[in-house]
Amino acid sequence: MKKSIFLLLLIIGLVLIGCSNSEINNITNMDKQVEEVDEKSQEESADNKEIELEKNIIDYERIKPNENGQIMILMYHGIGEEESEWVRTAENFKKDLYTLYEKGYRLISLRDYINNNIKVEAGFTPVVLTFDDGLLNQFNIIEDGINRYIDPLCAVGILEEFYKEHPDFGRAASFFVYYPTPFRQKDLIKEKFEFLIDNGYEIGNHGYNHENLGKISIEAIQESLAKNVQKTSEILPEYTVESLALPYGAAPKGDDYRYVISGDYQGFEYKHRAVLKVGSNPAPSPNSIKFDPYKLPRVRASEMKVQGTGIYDYLEYFEKNPGKKYISDGNPDTITIPESEIDNIDKEGLEKNNKKLITYNLINANTDEN
Ligand SMILES: [Zn+2]
Repeated sequence: MKKSIFLLLLIIGLVLIGCSNSEINNITNMDKQVEEVDEKSQEESADNKEIELEKNIIDYERIKPNENGQIMILMYHGIGEEESEWVRTAENFKKDLYTLYEKGYRLISLRDYINNNIKVEAGFTPVVLTFDDGLLNQFNIIEDGINRYIDPLCAVGILEEFYKEHPDFGRAASFFVYYPTPFRQKDLIKEKFEFLIDNGYEIGNHGYNHENLGKISIEAIQESLAKNVQKTSEILPEYTVESLALPYGAAPKGDDYRYVISGDYQGFEYKHRAVLKVGSNPAPSPNSIKFDPYKLPRVRASEMKVQGTGIYDYLEYFEKNPGKKYISDGNPDTITIPESEIDNIDKEGLEKNNKKLITYNLINANTDEN
């Protein structure tokens, strides 16, 4: 009985792959898959196969992977002593990390999200952390004459400590900085940048001096964005800035929006692969037809003045609607979705990225088994 369910699921998967693609390499994939199944049926004993099939079905039942679900890109600003709209206390930031960890969220980098290279374990949900403005309380190095250490109450200090205690949570965050003094310690800019890059963090563009890109000329927009990227590449010649968080969430309207994506100033070109907004909801899966890397929404990591749209509102929302969030199948090369999501999948994108689509239908599986 279980064998027939597995074959049914497999056939559904193959048919869907077959339907959505016409290129030869996909037919090759199909052949390969069928070959693999043939090999298995020859080599494995009936007992082993029964266990294997059971595991597959149990996994779907238990994990309910949905790699077309939504992903939170959390937006932080300051980490400070008093909670306010744009400030999180160290204690509350720790609480956020712990809550995310406990509820099955795992950190991924913005780059891995954009590249659709999501590597969290099966059953877990990816989350992206972002910090705007390059404040001292995001990355503070304390030198007291005897000791030199990362302030345990700044964002990086808290993240590092949490990672040490919970390595399976992951280590990633994007810091969107502006100039002249990212993280506000003039002599330590390079050292901090190098620490971030060496430890899985990312540095992004936040304008040269936090200009409001919705209120300045096209030339000034390009100057602001190019100078930021140029400055960072002077400090980190090996590193490429790939993403922009819009200062104030502001951008030029209409066709001019393209200048926040790419442009040049005095011969220096910039080309962002991701543009992040300020508000205010989870982002689509990179597999979704709704995925637009140049207009990525962020969830405010705040509990004030954001009724209904803050981090805890969405944690609650996903708890009540688990089918809405991204749940990993544990394999970055396969994209597993409930069959009901099939029309919301960017099939061309999957082909381009060499991803194998797997669909499943729990209701049918249950019906068949009974
Ligand atoms: Zn800002």
